[in-house]
Amino acid sequence: ASGYSLMRDPRYNKGLAFTEKERDAHYLRGLLPPIVLSQELQEKKMMNLIRQYEVPLHRYMAMIGLQETNERLFYKLLIDNVEELLPVVYTPTVGEACQKYGSIFRHSQGLYISLKEKGKILETLKNWPERTVQVIVVTDGERILGLGDLGCQGMGIPVGKLALYTALGGVRPSLCLPITIDVGTNNEKLLNDEFYIGLRQKRATGEEYNELLQEFMYAVKQNYGEKVLIQFEDFANHNAFELLARYSSSHLVFNDDIQGTAAVVLAGLLSALRLLGGTLADHKFLFLGAGEAGTGIADLIALEISEQNGKPIEENRKNIWLVDSKGLIVSSRKESLQDFKKPWAHEHEPITGLINAVKAIKPTILIGTSGVGKQFTKEVVEDMASFNKTPLIMALSNPTSQAECTAEEAYTWSEGRAIFASGSPFDPFEYEGKTFVPGQANNAYIFPGFGLGVIMAGSIRVHNGMLLAASKALASQVTEEHYEKGMIYPPLTNIRKISANIAAKVAAKAYELGLASHLPQPEDLVESAEKCMYSPVYRSYL
Ligand code: NAP
Ligand code: MN
Repeated sequence: ASGYSLMRDPRYNKGLAFTEKERDAHYLRGLLPPIVLSQELQEKKMMNLIRQYEVPLHRYMAMIGLQETNERLFYKLLIDNVEELLPVVYTPTVGEACQKYGSIFRHSQGLYISLKEKGKILETLKNWPERTVQVIVVTDGERILGLGDLGCQGMGIPVGKLALYTALGGVRPSLCLPITIDVGTNNEKLLNDEFYIGLRQKRATGEEYNELLQEFMYAVKQNYGEKVLIQFEDFANHNAFELLARYSSSHLVFNDDIQGTAAVVLAGLLSALRLLGGTLADHKFLFLGAGEAGTGIADLIALEISEQNGKPIEENRKNIWLVDSKGLIVSSRKESLQDFKKPWAHEHEPITGLINAVKAIKPTILIGTSGVGKQFTKEVVEDMASFNKTPLIMALSNPTSQAECTAEEAYTWSEGRAIFASGSPFDPFEYEGKTFVPGQANNAYIFPGFGLGVIMAGSIRVHNGMLLAASKALASQVTEEHYEKGMIYPPLTNIRKISANIAAKVAAKAYELGLASHLPQPEDLVESAEKCMYSPVYRSYL
């Protein structure tokens, strides 16, 4: 290729880091200023620039701009500055980016499949320039983070998630495909927004929706084979559970909102047990929010307890209670409940209001997955602290504005006794001379390593046992030093090492279950995970 096209291709571009010899060999003389910079210096320069932007969205745009011009430098920044840049390319900033996606839209990223492509989805997939794809993240934009229906502008989510697959899990960027399915939106604001990028119509539902998704799922399989991991992301729960159930026996599917969340939260619980004492079976759980996250987590907890105590899962569900928008889920409501809530309809008189549920159930662990902010009030937290020596409080709703309570509130209202974790990051907080570091139950701990493990093993299906393996692998990375600060998750700075460990355990499980197709099984799975990880360091073009 000519130097000019090398320079214009984000996958190959090195900017000022093209060496003298490369400039000669590829006809780049004069196309660049005379100076040659190292990748380290480029990184320093970009980080300086990004830090100057005070508006988070500007930081996001700077990062996307870099991804579109110099992919390796983008990943080098992301890998070397995970804690700082994760909130930029992912929650919370990606949420705002999706809300304004049309207005800030420059280059197209990912693949759009709308109702217009019905009957032509296979052809559309073939327009994507890569022949081999290993991970697809797909959304229909109906429940973006806790922000609701953002329609076609949900594309920011698959793009962001796949950037994390590469940066945190080491899956090469060329193997990752972000997809947005556009069946319309019910968001009036977007429908009236002159810069909206999606179909200007109400959402298709029922048969029309199901047919498009069916065509999509089979076109993917036809085009990329059995072993492409399809991650469903930010679908509304009325579709999410059904899609997962419908395709889990024919495709390699994973829903991060249900299964990824479940695995990351279970990991936090397993690790917190070392501070709380006892086993999971000794605890009582109360969830605010009984959707994808809430029931997904609850299911995996019950499954893990059953693996531990050998009792039937129905029995172990009895210590797990959920509250939805209508109050505590109880047996008298069973008829009118959606299927995914039915297993949680226990015998109890009806209760409305979280505080009343807390008083009645007396949970040891309180988990917020409602998408509604400020629900863990002073009264709720004080109550938790009144009957628990160490109340465990997880305020998981994203973005930050939707968190059920802040770190500061959880620590102050419990007089420094709570263990706190959240979905979006909170800064460490000092209370009466002690610094508390809130845990971030970020799905980014799990899905990149999980996906890598699935890919490494060439697994053809996702199995719950693999989720449990991922949870345990993550929990095992928490050390004494972390516990002393109240942390129940390891710092994200070591995430590649963590991902390699998760990948190894997930792959091992796939081999054990006979789901792996890459044979023979490598002897050292951690080593082989680390070996196959993408490195963002520039290659030589000589
Ligand atoms: P979802 O499927 O829409 O579920 C939301 C649930 O909350 C529903 O059961 C809903 O009740 C309930 N709810 C809504 N308003 C309520 C209120 N005022 N009081 C009590 N319950 C209420 O959404 P999801 O996928 O589970 O996600 C929920 C939140 O969790 C989002 O903010 C998301 O960002 C966050 N999340 C965090 C993580 C993480 O931290 N790693 C992972 C995934 C999701 P009805 O069923 O009655 O409508
Ligand atoms: Mn999600």
